[in-house]
Amino acid sequence: MQLGDFTLRWFSDGIYKLDGGAMFGVVPKVVWTRKYPVDEDNFIPLALNAVLIETPQAKILIDTGYGTKLTPKQVAMFRLERPPTLLESLAAGGVHPEDIDFVVYSHMHHDHASGATQRDASGAVRPTFPRAKHVMQRLEWEEAKNPNIRSAHAYWEENWAVLEADGLLMPVDGDVELVEGVRLIPTGGHTRGHQAVLVSSQGQTAMHMGDLLPTHAHINPLWVMAYDDYPMDSIAAKEKWIGRAKAEGWWLTLYHDPEILAGIWNTEGKMIQAIRADDALAAEG
Ligand SMILES: [Zn+2]
Repeated sequence: MQLGDFTLRWFSDGIYKLDGGAMFGVVPKVVWTRKYPVDEDNFIPLALNAVLIETPQAKILIDTGYGTKLTPKQVAMFRLERPPTLLESLAAGGVHPEDIDFVVYSHMHHDHASGATQRDASGAVRPTFPRAKHVMQRLEWEEAKNPNIRSAHAYWEENWAVLEADGLLMPVDGDVELVEGVRLIPTGGHTRGHQAVLVSSQGQTAMHMGDLLPTHAHINPLWVMAYDDYPMDSIAAKEKWIGRAKAEGWWLTLYHDPEILAGIWNTEGKMIQAIRADDALAAEG
């Protein structure tokens, strides 16, 4: 997708499944199942749609999926279906891991951070993107190292230990412009240090809201995940940023949506434009 002078491209790391009730929080099942498919075990399909932003200054990858370090037991537990892995998708799109300048994390939970490292032939964990600086809010980095009792299971040290040792981590404080036209905006909510990425070029804008807007079915600010540690902060951030996106015609990217990679909603809450995964894959050939 062209966004002014920038290009946005999506690269799949496969499809996995989570409990639908956990993904839709307090929303009753009879309501959310009208908007989202569910299987007989109450699991729903979720994508891992990494976004690559190419600006004249830098190539920036947002969120990295599960990667290839999972054990067979973990693959089964997450019901993870592949191909493709992120690296296979990038290769098919002609993107080399060495090309990536920045890896940006909405937050460092395992389904967003695991793909940034991989095992080499000897089994040692190595950075997947050897030149990239790895960017997250400092609050998120602190929480990853000292998680609360509820989120501890979702932060895996193997996902960042080698990045820290190699000096590749770049925690940022608050609202910052990473490169011209790419702004990192703290939101909190899902985690204390969760952030959104606002991308603007030539009057066109897209926002990656990470797990505050995992799928198109979560567009209602009140539809927040049961996984969110600070749901009132999620709701406030969603009201603010989705409100602006609707009013100003921004694209919103959907990291976990298997069907729709990005959409534009009008102020009545209707999706008026969409980039569909099928179309995007067809365009990539
Ligand atoms: Zn997630």
